[in-house]
Amino acid sequence: MIDRASMPARLRAEGKRVTRERELLLDIIVANPHLDATEIFERARGVNPRIGLATVYRTLRLLETLAVIDSSGLGEDHSHYEMHQKDHVHLVCSECGAVLDVPVPFDVRAFGRRRGFDARLTRFELVGVCDACRAEPHGGRRP
Ligand SMILES: [Zn+2]
Ligand SMILES: [Zn+2]
Repeated sequence: MIDRASMPARLRAEGKRVTRERELLLDIIVANPHLDATEIFERARGVNPRIGLATVYRTLRLLETLAVIDSSGLGEDHSHYEMHQKDHVHLVCSECGAVLDVPVPFDVRAFGRRRGFDARLTRFELVGVCDACRAEPHGGRRP
């Protein structure tokens, strides 16, 4: 678990500079978990119109390598980002895209370790239809 306040120190410890762009992207990710790169870019551009999509992609890759952020597919074929935290399951609505973070009910990593399994990539995901969309007669399609 890493909190926003400790992120600059984390970057410096890895010999990385804490740039204004990196701070901005971290703020966006912390405030809006589970956005994809394009959505993060759009929000970043609203604050700093000079930021480029390539910078966003490069920064996301760097932050993920440093385990400051994690990515997940969330039922789609591209990555969504959130700050690195305890393992959790994503309940993803395929209609409206809503994402609910749910704790993993038992320590699957320890379970794997006891069987000599070395986990490299974490993907806990259930795709379904949320309560609000099930209540909506025509389905709450994504805009
Ligand atoms: Zn929904
Ligand atoms: Zn999550």
